[in-house]
Parts: sequence; structure tokens; C-alpha cells
Amino acid sequence: NDRITSGERLSDDSAETSLRPQNLEDFTGQAASRENLKIFVQAARSRGEALDHVLLHGPPGLGKTTLAQIVAHEMGVGFKATSGPVIQKSGDLAAILTNLQPKDVLFIDEIHRLQPAIEEILYPAMEDFQLDLIIGEGPGARTVRIDLPPFTLVGATTRAGLLATPLRDRFGIPLRLVFYTPDELTGIVIRLAQKLGMNLSYDGAYEIARRSRGTPRVAGRLTRRVRDFATAAGVTEISRDLADEALTRLDVDQKGLDAMDMRYLKRLAEHHNGGPVGVETLAAALAEARDTLEDVVEPYLIQEGLLLRTSRGRMLGDPGWRHLGFNPAQRGPD
Ligand code: ADP
Repeated sequence: NDRITSGERLSDDSAETSLRPQNLEDFTGQAASRENLKIFVQAARSRGEALDHVLLHGPPGLGKTTLAQIVAHEMGVGFKATSGPVIQKSGDLAAILTNLQPKDVLFIDEIHRLQPAIEEILYPAMEDFQLDLIIGEGPGARTVRIDLPPFTLVGATTRAGLLATPLRDRFGIPLRLVFYTPDELTGIVIRLAQKLGMNLSYDGAYEIARRSRGTPRVAGRLTRRVRDFATAAGVTEISRDLADEALTRLDVDQKGLDAMDMRYLKRLAEHHNGGPVGVETLAAALAEARDTLEDVVEPYLIQEGLLLRTSRGRMLGDPGWRHLGFNPAQRGPD
């Protein structure tokens, strides 16, 4: 999956890290989450305590890692990052936990992918800052209890529903990240363009923003590609028309949809008369993992009303029919 419009982190996104906002003030959008964090951080700081555990959930590329780093920065504490699939053995987690300094932020990305046995270790660590280690094997095995420094776990997941309830319940501060508005993304694109030394018009920035699927990671990627396009064309001032031309060449349509999105919508229209149809059926037909469809492809289509998620399966929304050039009432060509 290396779609240019994917919210997921791709190999060429490493350039993005230096451009991350460093504090809550500089973080655009997510007003509700930002306000909550600001209050909780202030309270924890004034009490001299570690911040309560934070669960960030929402589609990839919306700023979960960025917010976790900002939390550490605002708290004035250290930041350690790992991810669910990386932690293979209980010893891996024990090593990370015992190396934390008091009040540090431990960020676990894709926390829904932790193995159940590792989750069990996390419960007492989160609740009582205690680590129960089993030393040895068989009848001689014994448990030792180690006190951990108070710390803040920031977990990130694409969908809160993927988490086991006991784990979810241990986060005092659950925050849901939402797609950004075109105006919010325009601000992000303009700031990025400045940092990259691009001469990008406001209209050009807006054009990139509104075709970025509400996702800062996509906006950053499209901005860099538009810059490449302008460089290759020998253009120094990037207008809306140039941005449009570049994005069209990159197969990003007027709504920010790419070939994958269109295959999905067309499949629903042409093979299932608009549904309802189960996500498994669609995943098989499109040769995509169900998780990719649910985490990466569908959320934006649903937010835009192109796609409906019903109890009987996926259905094409009226805007979806129209986007394919069909009349929704006739479920066929105009
Ligand atoms: P996630 O962890 O949710 O996948 P990241 O935190 O890695 O997303 O963010 C992806 C990219 O988008 C990073 O380059 C980050 O700097 C940028 N970004 C995310 N949110 C914002 C924001 N609110 N303002 C500016 N840039 C942002």
C-alpha cells in the first residue's frame, strides 16, 4: 500500500519529522482534544504529578504521534516510543518500563496489536506502577514485584473498538482525533511551504488542502510532490492551476480520491448495485486486507457521505453515486 493519498506512514515520509509542531499552541486543529490536553497537562504540572494515561484514536496521519511528543514536551519530561507489534516478549516491555524516568511519556503506537500476554503486564504497570516479573521456569519459578516510576502511557490506535475493554478502561484521558477541515489543512500547508521555501499562493495551498483527505500527513506529501512538479516545470510561483495540474497527474481527483477509492466505489456500484454488501466480500474482490479498507480507505469516504456503513453492510451514498457520474435516484447513468 503505497498510495500517495494514504494516511499511513510511507518510507519517503521520514522528511516529515523535522516539520512537526513542538507545542500545543502550534498544533492546528483538533480543538476539542487540544483543549482537554491543555487543561490536564496544566493540572498535572501544578500538582507535580505524571499526566494520566492518554488514548489517542483515529485514522492514520491525523497527528497521534505528534500529539504524544507534544505532551512530553509540554510536561517537560522525556519521550520514549515503541509500537504494539514491535514488543514481542514480556522482557522487551519490562526493559522499556524499568528504563523510564519519573513522569516520562511512553508512546505505544498501534497499541491494539499488543499480544494479550504483554497486555497483562501492562495492567498493573498502568494502574499501580508495578511490574510483576516471573523469574525462572517450572516449579522453581517465582514472581518478583518491581516498583516503577510513575509514568504516562500514551497509546495510539486507529479504532478504539479494537482495544480489549480492560485496556481501554485504564486510560483516564481518551481522545478521538477527527479529520481536519480544508481551512485547517490550508494553514498547515502554508506553514510547510514556508519551511520548504516554496512560493505557494493561497489558492494553491487551498487546492492541495481540500484534496488531502482531511489528513495532515497526506497534505504534507502532496505539498512536497507539487513542489517537485513545479521544480521540474521550472515554475517558481505555484498557482492554483499548477497545483491542480500536478495533483491530477498524481491521480488525485477533485475530491482527493485516488484509483483505489474509485475501484472501491465502482465495485459497489457496478457489482452490487450500491449494496449493502459485506466488507469481507469487498476486500476479497479488491484484493485488499479488510483492515486496510476499514482503517485507511473507508473512514474518509464515510465522512464525505460517499459511503454508508449500515448493519447490513456497506452502501453507496448519494454523493458516491454522483461522484461516479450516476444519478442516485436511477442508480444508473444520468
Ligand atoms: P499519526 O501518528 O496519527 O499517524 P503523525 O503524528 O505521525 O500521525 O502525523 C503525520 C504528519 O502530519 C507529521 O508530519 C506531522 O508533522 C503532521 N501533522 C499532524 N498533525 C499536524 C498538525 N495538527 N499540524 C501540523 N502538522 C501536523
